[in-house]
Amino acid sequence: MKAAAFEYQKPTELSAVVSALRASNGEAKLFGGGQSLGPMLNLRLARPKKILDVSTLPALKVIEDLGTAWRIGGGVTHAMLEDRVLVGCEPLAQVARGIAYRAIRNRGTVGGSLAHADPAADWPLTMPALGATIVIAGVSGERRVAAESFMTAAFGTALAEDEIIAAVEVPKISADARWGYWKFCRKTGEFPEASAAVLLDPQRKVARVWIGALNGAPQSLNALAVDIAQRGFLAISDLSVSQALEPVLGKIDAAQRRLHQTAVRRAVQLATA
Ligand SMILES: Cc1cc2nc3c(=O)[nH]c(=O)nc-3n(C[C@H](O)[C@H](O)[C@H](O)COP(=O)(O)OP(=O)(O)OC[C@H]3O[C@@H](n4cnc5c(N)ncnc54)[C@H](O)[C@@H]3O)c2cc1C
Repeated sequence: MKAAAFEYQKPTELSAVVSALRASNGEAKLFGGGQSLGPMLNLRLARPKKILDVSTLPALKVIEDLGTAWRIGGGVTHAMLEDRVLVGCEPLAQVARGIAYRAIRNRGTVGGSLAHADPAADWPLTMPALGATIVIAGVSGERRVAAESFMTAAFGTALAEDEIIAAVEVPKISADARWGYWKFCRKTGEFPEASAAVLLDPQRKVARVWIGALNGAPQSLNALAVDIAQRGFLAISDLSVSQALEPVLGKIDAAQRRLHQTAVRRAVQLATA
């Protein structure tokens, strides 16, 4: 099937993008890398009247060192992060490398992935685990939303129809911080069935455990994270992990539950080894 007809624009300034979004009254769609939107257009699951192509917009391609954080433009591709290890944000390269396969990573963008908000995607899990902030641009300027509250549901976010993800600010982790990331994929390049991210950064008094590939947004396992920060891998047992997961997983089949438990265990193991 082919996409329904749409008007195509390629603004060259961020201000022109947000003005066009505002003027379109929800009838326009941003085109980041097209890796999700492209198939949705072709299947006619999305039928916007207008496409605003931001795939090469210079303002969205910038990666900037802010001192205590990295600001990553919303149009930065997974491949750009894979190819450039950002000092203090090394987990980004590691996560980027595991997204789909290189052709997807060459086009897919951080902003597009966060906005699309697939529950099994990598950035919606990684960004809250790293304590990132989403920088959103609209006609009245920028606003900032913590990554942990940005994704509100499966394919739902805090973005308004006339807003764009301008950037993501990711705080730098300490030199002795530990990161663990694990996902179960049936085949290389597929979305995972279970995923977990762990950050232990005692110097900054940060301990986070997040899990993804749920029915809704990724979730934090706070109490487990505190326990791991105090006792390391000793805090991990079948019982402690299943108790931590219980309120988050709800009713799912036993095999699926086991995948989530093992993803958490393996991510913690990587962060505490
Ligand atoms: C075969 C395949 C396998 C994949 N596997 C994985 C995987 O393992 N892990 C993973 O994380 N992802 C995976 N993806 C998704 C891919 O990584 C892309 O990140 C994702 O499709 C969206 O990014 P995009 O830049 O292509 O956005 P687009 O497809 O262009 O847009 C997606 C949505 O975001 C909106 N949007 C785009 N840019 C912005 C912006 N800056 N601000 C606000 N809204 C915006 C669009 O309007 C649209 O609604 C896979 C995709 C495919 C096709």
